Amino acid sequence: MALYDYDIGIIGGGAAGLTIASGAAQLGAKTLLIEKEPQLGGDCLHFGCVPSKTLIRSAYLYHQFKQAERFGLPVVDLPPVDFARIAKRIQDVIGQIQRHDSAERFCRLGAKVEFGTVFFGIPTGSI
Ligand SMILES: Cc1cc2nc3c(=O)[nH]c(=O)nc-3n(C[C@H](O)[C@H](O)[C@H](O)COP(=O)(O)OP(=O)(O)OC[C@H]3O[C@@H](n4cnc5c(N)ncnc54)[C@H](O)[C@@H]3O)c2cc1C
Repeated sequence: MALYDYDIGIIGGGAAGLTIASGAAQLGAKTLLIEKEPQLGGDCLHFGCVPSKTLIRSAYLYHQFKQAERFGLPVVDLPPVDFARIAKRIQDVIGQIQRHDSAERFCRLGAKVEFGTVFFGIPTGSI
């Protein structure tokens, strides 16, 4: 079993964990961040805020194009939406933000980043 000696240990590199890790490391605390998934970012980046807002943006623009005539613009005859292209754009946007939520960036801020699942328990043979 690895032995760690840190001022603060943060479980999970989602929005909450990344905010704390950034603040703690920059304040000079010896900071450990552990994430179980292969990449940082958590729900917000991979499943929540970012994908949903990117999808909403595409839907909003499509709707606006369809409303062109109301704004004195030529009528636009739009083809149906190709969702595969929207899904690709969502992945592209996630990829752009992922660069900012990278382990390297948090290491540069002074935190140690490890990947693995944290669990609490009494080590066998410790009693
Ligand atoms: C569809 C949708 C849209 C949303 N839109 C918005 C929005 O527009 N604005 C907004 O503010 N919020 C939004 N949210 C909410 C936002 O996603 C969450 O509030 C946010 O992700 C919570 O962050 P968190 O760090 O607490 O948890 P999480 O993002 O869930 O991060 C927890 C991290 O801990 C890791 N982890 C868990 N257990 C362990 C373990 N045992 N060991 C190691 N790592 C572990 C996980 O893998 C994960 O990376 C949305 C959510 C959804 C579902």
